[in-house]
Amino acid sequence: CYPRAASLARRLPASRRGLCLRPAGHSPRGAGTGGRQVVGRARAAFGSGRCRPLEFRMQQLKNLERMVREKEEEIAAALRADLHKSGHNAYTHEILTVLGELALVMEKLPSWAAPQPVKKNLLTMRDEAYIYPEPLGVVLVIGAWNYPFVLVMQPLIGAIAAGNAVVVKPSEVSEHMSQLIADILPQYLDQELYPVVTGGVPETTELLTQRFDHILYTGNSAVGKIVMAAAAKHLTPVTLELGGKSPCYIDKNCDLAVACRRVTWGKYVNCGQTCLAPDYVLCEPSIQSQVVEYIKANLQEFYGEDVKKSPDYERIINKRHFRRIVSLLEGQKIAHGGETDEASCFIAPTVLTDVSPESKVMEEEIFGPVLPILSVKGVDEAIEFINSREKPLALYVFSNDKKVIKRVISETSSGGVTVNDVIMHFFLPTLPFGGVGNSGMGTYHGKHSFETFSHRRACLIKDLKLEGLNKFRYMPNSQKKVDWTKFFVLKQFNKARLGLIFLALLGVLAAVVIKNHQSVLKRKALLIVLAVQRLGWLSGC
Ligand code: NAD
Repeated sequence: CYPRAASLARRLPASRRGLCLRPAGHSPRGAGTGGRQVVGRARAAFGSGRCRPLEFRMQQLKNLERMVREKEEEIAAALRADLHKSGHNAYTHEILTVLGELALVMEKLPSWAAPQPVKKNLLTMRDEAYIYPEPLGVVLVIGAWNYPFVLVMQPLIGAIAAGNAVVVKPSEVSEHMSQLIADILPQYLDQELYPVVTGGVPETTELLTQRFDHILYTGNSAVGKIVMAAAAKHLTPVTLELGGKSPCYIDKNCDLAVACRRVTWGKYVNCGQTCLAPDYVLCEPSIQSQVVEYIKANLQEFYGEDVKKSPDYERIINKRHFRRIVSLLEGQKIAHGGETDEASCFIAPTVLTDVSPESKVMEEEIFGPVLPILSVKGVDEAIEFINSREKPLALYVFSNDKKVIKRVISETSSGGVTVNDVIMHFFLPTLPFGGVGNSGMGTYHGKHSFETFSHRRACLIKDLKLEGLNKFRYMPNSQKKVDWTKFFVLKQFNKARLGLIFLALLGVLAAVVIKNHQSVLKRKALLIVLAVQRLGWLSGC
């Protein structure tokens, strides 16, 4: 769509522009064997054990941070070529997110990677028990095109932090970013451990025949099923970061001006190509025209009189997606926008009103700058509407009424929720990010990424002493042994109760000692009495 931007963006040698299944930094291989070789090399590198030490992981993360800082211009140029993204937007939408994740992970990794002691029971009170997070092995990260840098880097950071080898597969749809990642990653990271594979469906399909120890896929639900089916052949666990139609309910009891401002930002950022964008608005008919007016005013403020000239307004990724989105406008009542230009993949920010739930635009995820507004009678109908459809990736509710908010959260389901704003739960790394049902499975971001890419290994460290205590578990079994087992298994390790048992044992021990040494003790007591008497006489003299 943007040949000029594309030519400006590419600073790569021509030889690197073809898409092929090969790890960056190695010579091209045939598509049939390339995947096997890439994964084989990554597995051998993982087997060498060099990515396990914490120092190594930290070093790779530092290198990644250096890469992002040193290649900032190239990253921005690729984003401009793929999505017509401005330099400022490239920095805030993608580069900053990656730098933020790197800073967090490098600060916290030593504590995340440390063994985590666990509570013990009576059976194990003398032992050491902890969870040891260990790397899974070779991880495959498949990225999508809409935030083509973040969607590859953020999972990569988590997988490196957890000590894995990672095969990186950026989306071929954002071809400039795909090539750039293939070009620069090997300049900063261990090439064997972190190969980049470029290419499209055939290459990804071939790659998926290989055995991985985890796959994180970002993209649409239909391909998500293909990825999961391929992973099932090797019993490989998957994290599927999918999409869907994320609803936004605007209650009439709210500050409409603020609500619409936030919705306008979240809907049209990146030209609507955001997995977390509010897909459609549900509101009562009485506020529909106000919603439209506020959105129009916000669009003018954000993008100026001529949105086409705004540096902050991106373009649709390619003509296929352009045509798909334009086809959703057919037969709709356009309250604002609707202008399109196929040559530059431009679709103006568009608002549709009085949209029927059965219309085409309500069938599939829009993933473009088109906002349908649907009428509902109130929160009951909104909840019913949301629950009659697939579970979305995100859900938004704007209201001043705490009861309404509570009801929407407790009576619906979605990957995440932001109340009185949109998208912002993505930016809090302590919250797990991911979908549910049709919008995906598994989560990542911050510590959640580390946990996704780690195996939480259960470790119990015993010694070989006090074998007598184990008598009750050895054969032959008896009622007495069963009773002891019941005592050990059903009683929780409780320090206070243990203290009482200890005191009682001490009492018994004292009684036994006294009984056995009664005569000696009597003699000693007599001597003490005599000594005290003598002291008394002496002091009397
Ligand atoms: P895409 O076309 O870039 O595909 C994603 C990846 O899947 C690519 O690397 C591609 O090579 C591979 N792929 C495509 N078809 C394949 C096939 N048949 N077999 C094997 N691999 C194949 O991305 P997309 O699917 O258009 O992405 C948009 C979707 O992703 C939207 O639904 C959006 O909501 C969702 N998304 C979700 C998140 C999230 O974090 N949950 C983020 C971004 C996008």
